[in-house]
Amino acid sequence: MILRARQTILAEGARGSVTKAIMARYHLRENVDPQTYGLGVKEVWEVPPEQHRPGFVQHSFGWPLDDQTYGGAFLYHFGENLVSFGFVVGLDYQNPYLSPFQEMQRVKTHPAFAEHFKNGRRLIYGARALSEGGFQSIPRLSFPGGMLTGDTAGFLNVPKIKGTHTAMKSGMLAAEEAASVLDAPGGRVATSDLNARLEKSWLADELYKARNFRPAFARWGTRLGAIYAGLDTLLFRGRAPWTLHHRHPDNISLQPAATSKAIPYPKPDGSLTFDLTSSVYLSGTNHEEGQPVHLKLRDEALWKAVNRDFYDCPETRYCPAGVYETIEVPEGRALQINAQNCVHCKSCDIKDPEQNIDWRPPEGGGGPNYPAGM
Ligand code: SF4
Repeated sequence: MILRARQTILAEGARGSVTKAIMARYHLRENVDPQTYGLGVKEVWEVPPEQHRPGFVQHSFGWPLDDQTYGGAFLYHFGENLVSFGFVVGLDYQNPYLSPFQEMQRVKTHPAFAEHFKNGRRLIYGARALSEGGFQSIPRLSFPGGMLTGDTAGFLNVPKIKGTHTAMKSGMLAAEEAASVLDAPGGRVATSDLNARLEKSWLADELYKARNFRPAFARWGTRLGAIYAGLDTLLFRGRAPWTLHHRHPDNISLQPAATSKAIPYPKPDGSLTFDLTSSVYLSGTNHEEGQPVHLKLRDEALWKAVNRDFYDCPETRYCPAGVYETIEVPEGRALQINAQNCVHCKSCDIKDPEQNIDWRPPEGGGGPNYPAGM
């Protein structure tokens, strides 16, 4: 089926698949910093009414991650006795033995979080990557016949951990730009300039002021990064006469397994902490039987040499849905891809060291089925 439009506005979320192809085709990332990402793993709980504190919000960062790994948790009480809890880990982490899912389970055991889940019941589980590059990673937004908006371009305000208002504004700017292009003489072929419109809006100003926050943590670690972020905000109000840059994409940050420390994660207790299998079940993920596998390993020999032998299969730990498993075959450890479990977080497409895993959209309707509240 071919769909034709005079302007196509892409709003695919972080690491959009069509966006990825369009960016490569039209070189939209030239002269900007690499995009960096975080992986958010989230649960929604139902708690006893006497425990529910509507409007209560709690954030944390750091623990249980080491000083070189960026991440933090959020917890909100909302709706009818519901609590939303999530943990975001920067995908520029270095230790191939790290599991964002297991880290999220550990955070819940901290007394400041554990008390909120007492006598509660876990209802929903999910995960999704988010774009953390900010201002200096915004690509060229216009291409012949279309534009990029929202998190597929990367409009998250990282210090606020908020991107809904920025995504909406980018959509409004794209709509205005599309209208002006289509109204212009020769509008059928005119190319838009969404970046120029963005530069004049509060959205660019807001992201500009937040631009040094995330790279400071990548450069100096959690403690010093937090001190810098405080100074940048309080002293310079986000207008320091320099810009810290993102030095590399997330896929080249891993250290070799041989020089990395294994992380002994505790066993789940089944009431506060859980295993992957029961978690994925709560995501409602489903893919029709028999459809083509939507996760492509481009080169198996490369996976063996790099992922298996050098990094000890990091995809078996960063995937928050247990899609990647290794099995013993006569030739050694081989990769098994359980694509039907995929919750479409896009982390493998981002983090795979050689970009050897390609996430392609599955058949329509496949994937997680998150109820309202997620
Ligand atoms: S297979 Fe990839 S996209 Fe799917 S859940 Fe795992 S890491 Fe995320």
